Amino acid sequence: MFECLQQPGLKGHNKRMSPDEKGTNLSSEPAIQYDPTKVDFDLPGKHHHRLAFHLDSGWGFSLVPLTVINGLRPVAPGSSLVAIAVFGGTHGNEWEGQVAVKRLCQGLDPNEISGRVILMPQLSQSACAANQRVSPYDNVNMNRAFPGNPRGTISYRIANFVKSQIFPKVRVVIDLHAGGREGGFALCTSFHPVPDPAQFAEINEVASLFDTPFVLIYSSQMASGLLTDEAEAEGKIAIGGEFGFGEGVNRKGVSHAYEGVLNVMRHYGMLDGGISKIDADRPSAPRLVDARHLEDYIPAPSTGIWEPLVELGGNVKQGQLLGRIHDFSNHSAPPREVYAHRAGVLIMMCGVAVCQLGTTLFVIAREGALANRS
Ligand SMILES: [Zn+2]
Repeated sequence: MFECLQQPGLKGHNKRMSPDEKGTNLSSEPAIQYDPTKVDFDLPGKHHHRLAFHLDSGWGFSLVPLTVINGLRPVAPGSSLVAIAVFGGTHGNEWEGQVAVKRLCQGLDPNEISGRVILMPQLSQSACAANQRVSPYDNVNMNRAFPGNPRGTISYRIANFVKSQIFPKVRVVIDLHAGGREGGFALCTSFHPVPDPAQFAEINEVASLFDTPFVLIYSSQMASGLLTDEAEAEGKIAIGGEFGFGEGVNRKGVSHAYEGVLNVMRHYGMLDGGISKIDADRPSAPRLVDARHLEDYIPAPSTGIWEPLVELGGNVKQGQLLGRIHDFSNHSAPPREVYAHRAGVLIMMCGVAVCQLGTTLFVIAREGALANRS
């Protein structure tokens, strides 16, 4: 069941070794790869790259950061090597994942690792540079661009690189998101319902290693072309997550993202040590909640100023007043009141003042006891 990789020490004996004995690339600037398909994913040690994806409308490149680590620690007898890929910055204005993955790029020591780790802290680098959800070059949402297109605009070409060059080399795929400028989320890891019970169980187990208050099963119908869509369709252990919102850097979100990846590596024997409890303030395990049905995603009934009256992550009752939408075009008129359509956990709600007609105002998830119903 594990991705089989050749032992770096066996395969890499005739390859260029890293500049120092530890296998760490000490050059101050990552190498530019003008042909991203030429990256050597088998080279022992840690190697930083900048993938040069040419721009569509001018001379120049989006330099997409990539770090590849092939661990130098011997594998325990009888165990298999595992490979994981971790992405941040699939949406540019979601920062917790970018910070966490950058920290992993810098801090992971290949001498302490067995197996392969592929890290991309700013997958949509141009969107990250612009602090916006989509790339300013083609206005494409990277998380709707999969499986990509080698002859498409820049976002489709990067998606194609991930699909064709990275997915075949890993078994576990982790894509770290946040609410950006729109949705406020309770901290959670997330995944789609998948029909294979073994894949479902393993995804659920790995998602819980991030120790977020919630593990969310979310609807496959809300959108298509997601990075994790593609990975889970290939049978990968595909995990998403929401680690903050509001275009900020949520302290706990970064901690769950960073420490969660380390826990995943420990879980698969890639790092020594036991699974750590990431949030010492919360003794309970993550709660599995389920919002797989589109009817649980409630659109704003009008444009206005959203005044929440409940806390994210709280339990709500059917008929409970959740908030008010204010219309300042007539300050003498009462606000529009919004009520819970049913009981459950308020896992997401509008995270900014302005809600727009039709955008998702809130999501109420069911408790995990119902999670295995299709
Ligand atoms: Zn996102």
